[in-house]
Amino acid sequence: MAETAQEVLKMIQDENIELIDLKFVDLFGIWQHCTFHRSLIDEEAFTEGVAFDGSSIRGWKAINASDMSMVADPTTAWIDPFMEVPTLSMICSIKEPRTGEWYDRDPRSVAAKALEYLKSTGIGDTVYCGPEPEFFIFDDIRYDQNEHEGYYHIDSSEGLWNSGRVEAGGNLGFKTGYKRGYFPVAPSDTLQDIRSEMLLTMGKCGVPIEKHHHEVGTAGQCELGMRFASLIQAADYALTYKYVVKNVARKHGKSATFMPKPVFNDNGTGMHTHMSIWKNGEPLFYGDKYADLSQLALNFIGGLLHHAPAVLAFTNPSLNSYKRLVPGFEAPVNLAYSQGNRSASIRIPLSGGNPKAKRIEFRCPDATANPYLAFTAMLCAGIDGIKNEIDPGESLDVDIYELSPEELSKIPSTPGSLEGALAALEKDHAFLTEPGILSEDFIDNYITYKLDNEVNPMRLRPHPYEFALYYDA
Ligand code: GLN
Ligand code: MG
Ligand code: MG
Ligand code: MG
Repeated sequence: MAETAQEVLKMIQDENIELIDLKFVDLFGIWQHCTFHRSLIDEEAFTEGVAFDGSSIRGWKAINASDMSMVADPTTAWIDPFMEVPTLSMICSIKEPRTGEWYDRDPRSVAAKALEYLKSTGIGDTVYCGPEPEFFIFDDIRYDQNEHEGYYHIDSSEGLWNSGRVEAGGNLGFKTGYKRGYFPVAPSDTLQDIRSEMLLTMGKCGVPIEKHHHEVGTAGQCELGMRFASLIQAADYALTYKYVVKNVARKHGKSATFMPKPVFNDNGTGMHTHMSIWKNGEPLFYGDKYADLSQLALNFIGGLLHHAPAVLAFTNPSLNSYKRLVPGFEAPVNLAYSQGNRSASIRIPLSGGNPKAKRIEFRCPDATANPYLAFTAMLCAGIDGIKNEIDPGESLDVDIYELSPEELSKIPSTPGSLEGALAALEKDHAFLTEPGILSEDFIDNYITYKLDNEVNPMRLRPHPYEFALYYDA
């Protein structure tokens, strides 16, 4: 792996690279890319950047001010395993060529700003993040892309959901039982080899790989494990993860999805995110309070719980996100924290007395999040908690799903819909705007985009369940 521009340029020579694929993230967490001949990439690509037209990127520039620059990060260089021509891939941040400033709607630059802010407060200098995206692998997915967008059909080589499907060779009987995907061996697990290929390919793309396994979801749910990293690197890894998973699946004639709740009544797909703050090489979350946490960590939790409804507009940014956040599927529904209790939205994993392993796990996020914005929102909410010494209240050490309605009513819940999270963000965003991480304009643009393109269009479309309820009304 390269560290500097010079090393990348040498790598291009040594590995006979023909083309350089520059990737950057849009507002919604989707990688965009443009491929350049090697003759166009020199040291300037890493400082001034390479020009492109930013006018057609969703949620970005108007047409009259569309010149943008992609500035390549040399530490993100890897040879793209999915391209036939030898192609070096790099992840970029976006600059405005006119001013030389980082573009304020570029999520990767926003995350960099949040880290600068953390340093400026004197609280810490490093944030470690460990995202855990999950996903489903399907054999065939058909959904109606026309005006109605109300119909979908899923085939999975696993599980109960493909009752109508008979493959060549027939149904061989090993079907994953309801919620029993975690995690019997083959032949129940038919996805071992494809996951192995995904994991190793991800490793070749510079992600420090750890493990892979089947997940609870019956219809072919999976998870790959990677090592935690500093905030921006962890977000880079999360997008590399999704790119590799989708493309390996595609290569095998299958399709992978990170949708939070693709199958009714099966487990949903999360992206739990572990986080801790460090200063001068020392971990700050370890201490002598509840679950070996420090007072600083408790205040971080207080801030995250306090701002959670607004944070969810970034960590759970889809309509479908809220179909996952329901009781009974290991997804958090209440805003509470607890050691070991997976029904709380913040879990404190056991760290075996190791201060370096002390961290919080925020279980709300899902992989439709833009990881740069999601981690930034979590961090800023936590910093706000530290600065204002927000008390997280009592920990919740019972199974929240088992509480009586009366006890439950005392615990605040996660928003029930994207609209709810956006409304919370509209009211509560000073923790992001006051430190100058996001502008008012960014927040307005984001909320308006989500309402106009997701929330309101959904309202206009009849849902399949409405037919079940009302067809013979
Ligand atoms: N799939 C679960 C969720 O939606 C998590 C399962 C797990 O990793 N324990 O969050
Ligand atoms: Mg996991
Ligand atoms: Mg998992
Ligand atoms: Mg987890």
